[in-house]
Amino acid sequence: MRANAFLFDLDNTLYPANSGVTEALEARMNDYVQQVSGLPNAEALALRQHYFVTYGTTLRGLQLHHKVNIEDYLYTVHDFDMPLYVKPNPVLATLMASITVPKAIFTNSPREHAQRALDAMGMAHIVMPVIDIRRLNFLPKPHPAAYTVALNTIECPATGTVFMEDTLHNLEYAKSIGMTTVYIPHHADLPVPAYVDYCFPDAETAIMAFL
Ligand SMILES: [Mg+2]
Repeated sequence: MRANAFLFDLDNTLYPANSGVTEALEARMNDYVQQVSGLPNAEALALRQHYFVTYGTTLRGLQLHHKVNIEDYLYTVHDFDMPLYVKPNPVLATLMASITVPKAIFTNSPREHAQRALDAMGMAHIVMPVIDIRRLNFLPKPHPAAYTVALNTIECPATGTVFMEDTLHNLEYAKSIGMTTVYIPHHADLPVPAYVDYCFPDAETAIMAFL
């Protein structure tokens, strides 16, 4: 299998989904939604999940329906000790460094969160763009505009670009524009839709298949 370029989702794709990062983020997002909405815990949780499913990020929902300060939200939600959760991954770091075609991180998270995760994995030295939520003008995956920003950044066409993700619905639009879609599932027994080209248990195995 050949790849002319790679786009990597970050969270739960480059580090394991059971790292605890998602839970740490969700606890902070729930607190934030509860504060700005004034709703009790259970209703705030449901509202956050509704925003995430409807808009791709909780932040997008908060922007559209509440007057939140974006930078205050991003700082508050991502303010936790990353190395507690994300551990060094020298195998992945070596594989990443060996990629000679264009590559980039393509994430709905803010740059500083991505950088802290990359640092914790031992990948701080690997030079690649981090296409983050600000660079996406706060229009997150799976919004089509996000994919345009990503492809413009790596200066590659969709065809031949391999995109690795753990969130299925982010792969659907990618496939429709011709990307090669790689799904990194959280559980091995999940059904895989037709828009998934390849399924691998982790990013290391997936990269090896294309090198
Ligand atoms: Mg992810």
